[in-house]
Amino acid sequence: MKKILLTAALAITIMQSFAQTKPMNEFISNLMSKMTVREKIGQLNLLPSGTITTGISNNSPVKDALCKGELGGILNLKGADKIRELQELTVKKSRLGIPAIFGLDVIHGYETIFPIPLALSCSWDIPAIEHSAQIAAREASADGICWTYSPMVDIALDARWGRIAEGSGEDPYLGSRIAEAMVRGYQGDLTRRDNIMACVKHFALYGAAESGRDYNTVDMSHIRMYNQYFPPYKAAVEAGAGSVMTSFNIVDYIPATANQWLLDDVLRKQWKFDGFVVTDYNSIKEMVKHGVGDLQSSAAMALKAGTDMDMCAEAYIGTLEKSLSEGLISMADIDNACRRMLEAKYKLGLFQNPYKYCDSKRRATDIYTAENCKAARDLDAESIVLLKNDNSTLPLKKQGKIALIGPLANSKFNVPGTWSVAATYKYNTLYESMQSALKGKAQLLYAQGCNIASDSVMQNDGAFYRVIPRVNDAKAKAEALDIARQADVIVCAMGEEEEMSGECASRSNLELFDVQHELLEALVQTGKPVILLNYAGRPTVLTWESRHLPAIMNVWFGGSEASDAICDVLFGDKVPSGKLTTSLPQTTGQEPLYYNHQPTGRPVAEGTKTFTKFTSTYFDVRNDALYPFGFGMSYTTFKYGDLRLSADNMTRNDSIKATITVTNTGNYDADEVVQLYIRDVVCSISRPVKELKGFRRIHLAKGESREVAFTITPDMLKFYNHNLDYVLEPGDFEVMAGPSSSNKDLNTKTFTVKF
Ligand code: BGC
Repeated sequence: MKKILLTAALAITIMQSFAQTKPMNEFISNLMSKMTVREKIGQLNLLPSGTITTGISNNSPVKDALCKGELGGILNLKGADKIRELQELTVKKSRLGIPAIFGLDVIHGYETIFPIPLALSCSWDIPAIEHSAQIAAREASADGICWTYSPMVDIALDARWGRIAEGSGEDPYLGSRIAEAMVRGYQGDLTRRDNIMACVKHFALYGAAESGRDYNTVDMSHIRMYNQYFPPYKAAVEAGAGSVMTSFNIVDYIPATANQWLLDDVLRKQWKFDGFVVTDYNSIKEMVKHGVGDLQSSAAMALKAGTDMDMCAEAYIGTLEKSLSEGLISMADIDNACRRMLEAKYKLGLFQNPYKYCDSKRRATDIYTAENCKAARDLDAESIVLLKNDNSTLPLKKQGKIALIGPLANSKFNVPGTWSVAATYKYNTLYESMQSALKGKAQLLYAQGCNIASDSVMQNDGAFYRVIPRVNDAKAKAEALDIARQADVIVCAMGEEEEMSGECASRSNLELFDVQHELLEALVQTGKPVILLNYAGRPTVLTWESRHLPAIMNVWFGGSEASDAICDVLFGDKVPSGKLTTSLPQTTGQEPLYYNHQPTGRPVAEGTKTFTKFTSTYFDVRNDALYPFGFGMSYTTFKYGDLRLSADNMTRNDSIKATITVTNTGNYDADEVVQLYIRDVVCSISRPVKELKGFRRIHLAKGESREVAFTITPDMLKFYNHNLDYVLEPGDFEVMAGPSSSNKDLNTKTFTVKF
């Protein structure tokens, strides 16, 4: 048959007008009928370009690959003009002119950076979180990006794992609500040019790495997967996420990237996912190290399992043609993956306009605007968790002499937090923000006081951590003590540097680093009140601090506006309302520690202070968290009334209303997060001691009371049983409502489900 060769320009014009008029399937079938096998495999190839590094790079030049039609997408490049240049290459120089997608880790904002996801989750403010994703999408899309590797929805129970910073903590219900909100926020209406495609990651179970060590083995029962780990992925998929990223780990001893059960049975068949699956960075090459085959067989396994796009391993482009000729894979396998990639591009509107996201004029109007910064500042203030506040030490009065001490007090490089790939680092340091907040009303003294950690901890840092000037600890401590003695109150900015959480940032000790701890002890000795602002991307062990300091605020890493937001809360312009979404342990050895654990046959009641032999506990520490899931203080006080249920019994088709009255009994107008937990008391499988099933963030003026009502539906009581059927079983259920997950904070009532 005679091949009709169109000029590239004509082909593109025809393709673009066709895309506008023909339904997606027809358009893609028509396009695929013109593609060679190599061009189809090219669509499955994703390579990095630009200066952002998120993995070990060992890749080919992208321009050449684009011109040959051997590259479907690019990651780690930003800038509308730079992206336009590459898009023009592929559109004008490749045979069929198929546009590329440009992806980036836009994780918690773009240049306007919101708090790290773990902190965001502590706001429990779903509409604001959705709005943060919308803003991130608007900014990223104004800079050429059409695809983000977010939301990260991995449940993480072990604070040693540095990537706990990137998710929403330990709870599947809250994690699911946030996952949906993020997907809605990014994607909105994808025909608009300020929305981008989401990528749910890391599928699956990445957060369950053994010993909290990154990239480590995962081994888990299916019951646990379905009940505890899968819900946020499923929620994100059901919210319409356009893509899913596989995880580095094994699932049932098969790397997730090549796990057919996971990607095909669960994701596509059970959850009806209709987008595309991309690997994580270099994952197919890493399958060789997992010991499941050479590069060619790993790539074939991954494709057959349902992984469509190969990030950075060049395993598909390098081996799939050979595998096709040897019968390891079929043409249908390649076609399915290629079709899904083209569908994504179609949904993004790239066939209609490949330069949809390449309008460099938008930078001035859409990126880092005053409005966006305000949203980030407000949300950061909501994510700060007040852990302790004896004698109303906080809010601080703007008077007298305040000593600001600590390695994080005056460093620009630790404001935004891990995965801030578009950070400009023009942001205020805490010292600068405090100076402008005080406006000369109080005298502010500053000293770094110590290094972030001693040399023995930092020895392996290389260029990994952002630079905080290294100082002589003894000299720095003397300077700090000097200003501390002159001051009325001491504010310590301590904790981790921003890259000490996130990818490949596991820790075996969750306490404040040695030199910081020594300095804190010396500051406490001065007899002045010491307030700790704890910068953290994970739960910190604050046992000593909770005994010796009057006030502790967990400020996490709050994004570009963090320093101003911290001042808003510190000085009482805003009232803290954040609530923990991970349990803060008393010692590292309690990890993984989480509130929604199973009962044991030898349980220890929550709050038990003494050790009893032959019970499930430690002899050197009690089981409870130092600060539990859901906990967070305010400058005001709230009183909870009795919990009331609308009925004692419920059937399959009913619902029960649970109502509790909350009163603001303190001196500040403030927000409170009212939480609802449920326990299935007797069941065919052992069920958690309690599970979050609802929450409301409410605002109460001082003196105001509000009835908060939750509707308990049969669906909220369902679980995956031993056969992995999603069922409701009759029997008793405990309902608990209150300000945290701790039993002492909860009001409890019981009802019965009868069929
Ligand atoms: C991370 C992903 C990230 C990807 C692309 C990987 O190292 O695990 O979360 O999206 O790099 O940057």
